[in-house]
Amino acid sequence: MGKRYLIFMKKAIYPGSFDPVTNGHLDIISRAAQLFDEVIVAVIRNPDKKTKFSLSKRKKMLKNCLLGLPNVKVNNFDGLLIDYARLREAKIIIRGLRAVSDFDYEFQMALTNRKMAPEIETIFLMTDYRYSYLSSSFVKQIARLGGDVSALVPGAVVKELRRI
Ligand code: ADP
Repeated sequence: MGKRYLIFMKKAIYPGSFDPVTNGHLDIISRAAQLFDEVIVAVIRNPDKKTKFSLSKRKKMLKNCLLGLPNVKVNNFDGLLIDYARLREAKIIIRGLRAVSDFDYEFQMALTNRKMAPEIETIFLMTDYRYSYLSSSFVKQIARLGGDVSALVPGAVVKELRRI
């Protein structure tokens, strides 16, 4: 890889809790992988937010599902997302949008991040209609009640959900 290429390489970060990863997340990641040279899926380690799966489990499930996408990496971060983006020299943050209900929060976060780091751009990818209703918390709720989640999450996640 030449130096020139490195300079122009478009690296994007896709942050989230991924507790657990769903088919909706995977759709965003595979589309992002076609748009950017490198996509870093950045799993938030948030000690204040109680997650169902540990950080290492969440990363493991993601890695399992992303083996076919060589330009996608899975990592984790704490603290401010823009600090992590700067550390990784990424100028793009990707977020997925489902319904209008996502908008307020995403709007506030994107504008706050821009205020703090004007050199970093947030790019939104619209959900595929098949996943517009899909969220990690919805999946966890169905699994808890004994429902079938195999159409909503990848196989590796179905297995993990059965264990808990
Ligand atoms: P967070 O805790 O940051 O909301 P999530 O893991 O819930 O993390 O989501 C990460 C990102 O993926 C967010 O931008 C969210 O809007 C997006 N996302 C989640 N589910 C879907 C889906 N079904 N379709 C498209 N985007 C989604």
